[in-house]
Amino acid sequence: MARYYDITLDLYEDLWGEHVHHGFWDPGEVPGVNGADRHAATDRLVRELVAFAGVPSGSRVLDVGCGIGGPALHLAGPMGCAVEGITLSARQAARANEKARDAGVADRARFHRLDALATGYPDEAFDVVWALESLMHIPDRAAFFAEALRLLAPGGILAVATWSVRTGELDEAERDLVEQILRHQVMPGFSSLDEHEQLARAAGFADVASVDWSGAVANSWDPAFAQIRRYEQGRSVMRDLARERGVDVLGFFHAGPLMKKGFDTGVITYGALRAVKPAPGPGRGGAPRADRTP
Ligand code: SAH
Repeated sequence: MARYYDITLDLYEDLWGEHVHHGFWDPGEVPGVNGADRHAATDRLVRELVAFAGVPSGSRVLDVGCGIGGPALHLAGPMGCAVEGITLSARQAARANEKARDAGVADRARFHRLDALATGYPDEAFDVVWALESLMHIPDRAAFFAEALRLLAPGGILAVATWSVRTGELDEAERDLVEQILRHQVMPGFSSLDEHEQLARAAGFADVASVDWSGAVANSWDPAFAQIRRYEQGRSVMRDLARERGVDVLGFFHAGPLMKKGFDTGVITYGALRAVKPAPGPGRGGAPRADRTP
């Protein structure tokens, strides 16, 4: 997984820009394919998640799976948040720190190579735990929700956007398509949006809500937008890439048409989830109040 992001870093940045995630469009909107349109669509997804989850300006944010820092720079820049970004890829963390320096927000956005399930941050260190298209990479999702709860201050917000599968049993053809996507994208497995809600509640989150954004993001796999063709047409470029970096790198190119089919047939879905860490109620075992006289 870390290796996959190490070897595809420049490809993603070259093809997709600084945001390593889907774009977001209104119904009927057609994706523009130039760099500015691409950036606008992916940037919009960040703003939609901020709005859906209710991320407050100026909050302390842990960005789980920060990529090269595109979303974190929005949170740290215009929104004035203090962001700690973590990724499995040392090269991504280095590139993100460089981008934060260039953007003049290095004091508010810092990036580290760390595993989401073993961050070492103290309890209640953050107001927001933000996970934009990283949850599907984490095999132990129950552990992710437990760790997010631990890291949030009471009243803190969990904001997730993730690839998912439709609710219910998949038939054989659907399972086969999903397996191929997982293999090419080096992902362990998908859950449904309902399962994510259940996991959040089981971990102890309150006010859990989710929204299905499949229709809003599916355009991202339009071959022109995903820009896969640019490389597909250059077979020799792909041969060189595979020789240089190993065949894993090619998964990146195979996944595009499969994702498009997944969205077209409804087996691949995409959604956001927000949840709140409850404040300890009276008599629920909170720490003793210092001002209470015996
Ligand atoms: N959120 C970024 C990047 C998404 S790509 C963006 O929207 O632009 C997925 C990211 O998740 C990568 O940075 C990858 O390193 C990270 N990731 C996957 N599993 C992780 C884990 N267990 N701990 C920390 N980061 C992880």
